[in-house]
Amino acid sequence: MFLFGTFWQMKRRTDPLVGTAIAAVLVLLLTAATGFEYDQRRHGGPRKIYLTFDADITPEMRHRLQAGEVPAWYSPGLVAYLEKQQAPVTLFVTGLFAEAYPELVKELGSNSHFSIQNHTYDHLAFQSDCYGLPWTSNFRLKKYEIQKTQQMIYALTGTSPRNLRHPGLCYSLFDQFVAWELGLKIRDAGLVSGDAFQADPRVIVDRVISGAEPGAVVIMHLGGPNAPATESAVREIVPRLKQAGYRFDVLR
Ligand SMILES: [Zn+2]
Repeated sequence: MFLFGTFWQMKRRTDPLVGTAIAAVLVLLLTAATGFEYDQRRHGGPRKIYLTFDADITPEMRHRLQAGEVPAWYSPGLVAYLEKQQAPVTLFVTGLFAEAYPELVKELGSNSHFSIQNHTYDHLAFQSDCYGLPWTSNFRLKKYEIQKTQQMIYALTGTSPRNLRHPGLCYSLFDQFVAWELGLKIRDAGLVSGDAFQADPRVIVDRVISGAEPGAVVIMHLGGPNAPATESAVREIVPRLKQAGYRFDVLR
């Protein structure tokens, strides 16, 4: 009341334009003080968190797998742990991963605790300077990378992904239009666990636990030689997040 009374007195004595400007500033201040946007993730609703795992295979990785240089490009122990926990998680799968492990993708796709989403066909970056990944700027090739993986995942799971994660999380405004045109939601933003090539699970656990907040999308990898500490880290992260009152959910 006091505020509006003062404002009214000022308005009567000053130029109408100045009065309007003061009113606008008051509204802005009040808005800032009360919080502009009601965010359900922070107020009331369940403390949901989204664990996501990228299942990368590049052509070079496929070659090494076929040559028998690596046992697998994922951690079977990690997958078994997640299945046992029945903690809903989202996997971003490359087409080459689906080709290498069709039975696994099929099996997890039929498990309601797993959501299988699109991580392009062969992990070619959509932008330059993306963690040293080979990259393309070719619009048709980008579309092909995404669409081929959509078809492969649909063929194995009976469900078309609705979410896309770009290799190396690198994309431009133009790539946003490509995803939009294909009806896919980009899921590159989130809490980056830093598990790629990280040998110490402590580093991953600390980063995830300290960065966790309601609604966070935690970005990890499905283990294997390029994410050697992820399995150990996840075995600690899952119970600790549960203890902190978080509920896991899949990205739909
Ligand atoms: Zn990736």
